[in-house]
Amino acid sequence: MLIDVHAHLIGVDPDNGCYVEPSMRRGLLFQYLKRTLGLGGVPEDELDAAYRERLVEWAESSELDGVGVLAMDGVYNRDGELDRDRTSVLVSNDYCLQVCAEADELLPVCSVNPHRSDAIEELERVVKAGSVAIKLLPNSQDIDPADPAHRPFWERMSELGVPLLTHTSFEHTIPVINQDWGHPRRLTAVLDEGVTVIAAHCASAGVVHLTEHFDIWLDMIRTYPNLYGDISALASMARFSYIGRVLDDEMARQRVMLGSDFPIPVSPWLFLNNLGWNEVTRLTGIDNPLQKNLATFRALGCEQSILRRGQRVLRV
Ligand SMILES: [Zn+2]
Repeated sequence: MLIDVHAHLIGVDPDNGCYVEPSMRRGLLFQYLKRTLGLGGVPEDELDAAYRERLVEWAESSELDGVGVLAMDGVYNRDGELDRDRTSVLVSNDYCLQVCAEADELLPVCSVNPHRSDAIEELERVVKAGSVAIKLLPNSQDIDPADPAHRPFWERMSELGVPLLTHTSFEHTIPVINQDWGHPRRLTAVLDEGVTVIAAHCASAGVVHLTEHFDIWLDMIRTYPNLYGDISALASMARFSYIGRVLDDEMARQRVMLGSDFPIPVSPWLFLNNLGWNEVTRLTGIDNPLQKNLATFRALGCEQSILRRGQRVLRV
């Protein structure tokens, strides 16, 4: 099975349990993404349905056999209740499960903030409902993976055999509460509990940072057999410089899996030097962004095992 482990579900309708804060909705990135997805003229109240339709259509018409569709939990206060004021983006687990029920290719990756008062209950519920992994964005959800208070949560994840797909290193898209929570070393607390961890983007820092975490991830995969990485967004503007370093490292090749970070656009022309004009033109001509991502990584030399690893690591 060819599996893209990292595609975002986005919604703005509170009836779907979704939210994007108004300043983000007005922002350049949101408007740019709307346009690249062909959703430029779609009114707000039809946006969720239109996004969903695109995602289903692209997953079905690509070569992919599975696409991990990510929910996004919010920020929680000290009492374990949702903190609406500090939450910038919310995609409810029920909505994610509902959307994924619409197409065989879509695999739900629910999101459970371990700070919520019903965290373990919710974890058990979504795993029972078919969640193939749990997604976290610690920098924006205000979760310190190393906080000892979360140990029972990681323990339960380990018992359930559900992997953690977690954003690692700096976050650039969703407003950040604490960038330190993305440091890969903070994941040792989770790894020590025996949880399989997929560090999104292989813990690459991205173009705008002087501090680098990618080398720490390279070091950590040599210590932790339960640590993986996804190559999502490594064919996009912010992180394209890392894919060569991943593929040059024999151990990394054995630990990474295909991801797209959809709807973040893939830009094949970034690899003009490696792929040449004809290949870049061919890749740029692929309309389906999920297929374009897959084809670009394949052209860059990602072997079948990388494209298929998601099947072995996710709870499929
Ligand atoms: Zn992402």
